Amino acid sequence: MSADVSSQEPLPASTREQPVSADLGAVSALPGATSSIGAPATGSAIQLYARATPGFEDRLARTIAVLREAAEEFGIGALQSTSLGVEDMVITDLIARHHWPIALATLDTGMLHEETLALIPRIQSRYGLDVEVFQPVQEQVLHFVRTHGELPMRRSVELRKACCGLRKLEPLSRMLAGRRAWITGLRREQSSNRADVPFREDDGQGRIKINPLAEWRWADVWHYVQQHDVPVNPLHDQFMPSIGCAPCTRAIAVGEDFRAGRWWWEDSAKECGLHASHGELPPIEPSASNATPPATSGAQA
Ligand code: SF4
Repeated sequence: MSADVSSQEPLPASTREQPVSADLGAVSALPGATSSIGAPATGSAIQLYARATPGFEDRLARTIAVLREAAEEFGIGALQSTSLGVEDMVITDLIARHHWPIALATLDTGMLHEETLALIPRIQSRYGLDVEVFQPVQEQVLHFVRTHGELPMRRSVELRKACCGLRKLEPLSRMLAGRRAWITGLRREQSSNRADVPFREDDGQGRIKINPLAEWRWADVWHYVQQHDVPVNPLHDQFMPSIGCAPCTRAIAVGEDFRAGRWWWEDSAKECGLHASHGELPPIEPSASNATPPATSGAQA
């Protein structure tokens, strides 16, 4: 992160004066994604979802208090692990707006959409903040691809988890090494697995995980984006509320759950292990560059 955020230009006021859609209330299932004939649909996520709901200002105030406390308690020992999704962009905006000394980092799995990666320079130009990028160990990726093919994740849950292990969990371990706290965009509303997400929790690896948007609703997120003209991934306008790697993300359909577009072929918890207490896989320890990829339970090539 560039240290001198105090010299940045004042953040611009919102320039997006968009009409707000009809009542789209608290949702775990989101409205509108594909047309009745199945054609891909697009639409402004702000227009669809942004809404000032009762209690928003109180939720925002609690979020600011949680982040301020983290900045004061951990200082540069705190890191925002940003997925570059809309929730994380809101958090980045708050960090920049309040000039908290919290570093930013992200995982580039090698499988992200170009629209996702394009947010990294946008964060730099908009906020003057650097995003440290952590990538998987290339030897591990090459070994995995040679053994199992380029896109083996749909053949078994084990192969999918192995891919997430080497492309996400291993670099996450390096990202968090030496940090005392990390900040995520988890919200209780995102899935039943996340329904009990607290503001702060022990991550089981000796760090505090901070989830400042825990109690935010989907409408809150987009209301904030609209209010502050937060840069967001344009894929959100293509009915992708949760965006991960390109091969493992699709648009959702009418009435589907928030995370239905992630690993949709699986009957699983829709988690990659980054948030073990709200998913399935625990974080793995930092490994050397020649470490063996996570076990694949004998999955076939
Ligand atoms: S989300 Fe898909 S491509 Fe990305 S690491 Fe997991 S299995 Fe691999």
